[in-house]
Amino acid sequence: MEVGGLPSIPGLKLIVTTAEASTQSERDWLAGTLGGHVADEYGCSEIDIIAFTCPAGNRHIMAENVLVEALPVVGHSGLSQIVVTDLNNDLMPMIRYCIEDLVRLSDAACPCGRTLPVLESVQGRSRRQFIKTPDGRSVHVVSFPYFMEERQSAGIPIRQFRVVQLDLATLDVEVVVDLEDESGFAELCRQIDGLVREQFGPEMKCRVRRVDEIVAPPGVKYEYFSSMIDGGEPT
Ligand SMILES: [Zn+2]
Repeated sequence: MEVGGLPSIPGLKLIVTTAEASTQSERDWLAGTLGGHVADEYGCSEIDIIAFTCPAGNRHIMAENVLVEALPVVGHSGLSQIVVTDLNNDLMPMIRYCIEDLVRLSDAACPCGRTLPVLESVQGRSRRQFIKTPDGRSVHVVSFPYFMEERQSAGIPIRQFRVVQLDLATLDVEVVVDLEDESGFAELCRQIDGLVREQFGPEMKCRVRRVDEIVAPPGVKYEYFSSMIDGGEPT
């Protein structure tokens, strides 16, 4: 998501983000760079739109068109894997279609007044999202985006990150961050190292590298995590 250097667009009313998961700070940055509001669209090709953000910033499920069921995920309280059912597709309805996305639902009422259910967060695909640890566990990698979003909210200008598990005891963490001084980056590295030890155990090593940009291969979505240890292939 790179539009740096573009001038704001007078009269722009709405920017719609879709296809790839975006963070709140990325959406704030888009709004600040281009002007206008940002609405995030969540869906899939087979169902089309599943949820859309309202002016209050919450992502409402389009419950008139799609039934979203949340299945608990073992070992990850609060996160659900969703299955979706088309309610208005007479030609080829999808019934309890598992799109393998992990989400967090919210019971909170939205100040916009809409009573459609709210998706608090979308964490993307549940498969290939687990870090294997030296002590034999498989831990979902979701703590990384939470960590990065917390730092972004605290004012650390992290623009992108990517985590690659190189082997059972080594994580490679790339970060694109607009920090001017090296001491700020050193502190960020220390915090990432603390996160890794806390989540994945003291034997897990991490190598944090500062890069200018993280670019997905042509035709491939950006994913913040991949692993080299399942069958020896990047996933
Ligand atoms: Zn709302």
